[in-house]
Amino acid sequence: MHIKGCFETRKVYVDGGELDPKYSQRVYNYSPDGFDWGYDGSAQFALALLLTVCSSRVAVALHQKFKLDFVACLPRGDFETELDLNYWVVHIGGVKACKLHPDRPALDRTPYCKECHRQHCREYHKAHTHRGSQG
Ligand SMILES: [Zn+2]
Repeated sequence: MHIKGCFETRKVYVDGGELDPKYSQRVYNYSPDGFDWGYDGSAQFALALLLTVCSSRVAVALHQKFKLDFVACLPRGDFETELDLNYWVVHIGGVKACKLHPDRPALDRTPYCKECHRQHCREYHKAHTHRGSQG
């Protein structure tokens, strides 16, 4: 993923879209003011990034390690970088990989990653709606 941070606004963009701190603040509110990086107190950003590929349980379990590995090492200023977060979670975080994607972490209670899970849900809902329409 491509990650870009603007130090003045403390806004972070992941693959072009703004990363909203609100979801991660609901999981654990370290920083009501939003994101920060480039020092070892930047847990909110670490948690929010992990939540883009992991379940909240896994994100909470790994975010301190990820913070020290990545977020704390960013420059204290604007940055722009590439990160293979799925790879980090599976190979450094030690999370079991998806059955279909060996470099993506599986979610809790399923052998599949977030992307497979989404796909599965779409198909399930399609099938369900279809059965429903047949009465
Ligand atoms: Zn998958």
